[in-house]
Amino acid sequence: MKNLSDINVIRSVMAKHGVTFNKGLGQNFLVDPEVCPSMAEYAGLDENTCVIEVGPGVGVLTAELAKCAGKVLSFELDERLLPVLDETLKDFDNVEIINQDIMKADLAKLIEEKCKGMKIAVCANLPYYITSPIIMMFLESKLPIDSITVMVQKEAADRLCAEVGSRDGGAVTVAVNYYAESEILFFVPKDSFLPPPKVDSSVIKLTLRDKPPVEVKNEEFFFKVVKAAFSQRRKTAENSISAGLGIPKANVKVALEQAGLPATVRAEKMTMEDFANLAEILEK
Ligand code: SAM
Repeated sequence: MKNLSDINVIRSVMAKHGVTFNKGLGQNFLVDPEVCPSMAEYAGLDENTCVIEVGPGVGVLTAELAKCAGKVLSFELDERLLPVLDETLKDFDNVEIINQDIMKADLAKLIEEKCKGMKIAVCANLPYYITSPIIMMFLESKLPIDSITVMVQKEAADRLCAEVGSRDGGAVTVAVNYYAESEILFFVPKDSFLPPPKVDSSVIKLTLRDKPPVEVKNEEFFFKVVKAAFSQRRKTAENSISAGLGIPKANVKVALEQAGLPATVRAEKMTMEDFANLAEILEK
């Protein structure tokens, strides 16, 4: 099997098929030979796991996943890479490349058809231009996903895995925490990629919860309150929520009081319970 983290191998297989890097699709391919085996190991795969990958590139992580999992469903948007992947992954009979935008895939149907009875995990070196939409799509999908082990931009990792109620936290932190336990696994410097991107990366793992850490009656409204609260980070939650949801300031003030929060509180100081209480009071 070819060494897919070797720069010369990547260049030559791409040249052979007339493929050049497409920056717009986030095509920075891993060339550090230790990263992909580690990601596959942290993903906790076994024979009974069907792993979903987003963006195989030339297949460097795909090959490691195929060694550890029962099945790999890998979504690649760039059709130019299909003949490359046919060549680089020809030794594996448990990999299926699906030439589709992951955001448009009918995952429930595909899982039912191709991974019936198997555990489901996600593992990928994500295209950074759509990191949060992809992660949120998996978290909100209600699919039976056990965990999401992904490489993201370092700053995104810090935000996604921050503690709710800390300075690094944002609306996406609350959303991730609602669905999953999160951890940053390891740092990956920019020179681990071809071509090197402008930013460093981290690999994170989100382990999906059986149930959310707080009871929320109306999830849609809860997330609207969270988004509004963080929409103007320099302002108080009272001002941001009032502006974001079009609720009179006086009403938000009373709701904050009833939730036991100071009138000057900022979203980044609020806990999951605070958001859940406040949303319930505001909805009433
Ligand atoms: N897994 C390879 C690696 O680690 O070297 C490539 C990762 S590269 C950061 C991201 C890959 O995602 C590219 O191959 C790109 O073409 C693909 N991609 C970008 N947007 C996509 C989308 N919406 N759906 C599926 N694949 C996508």
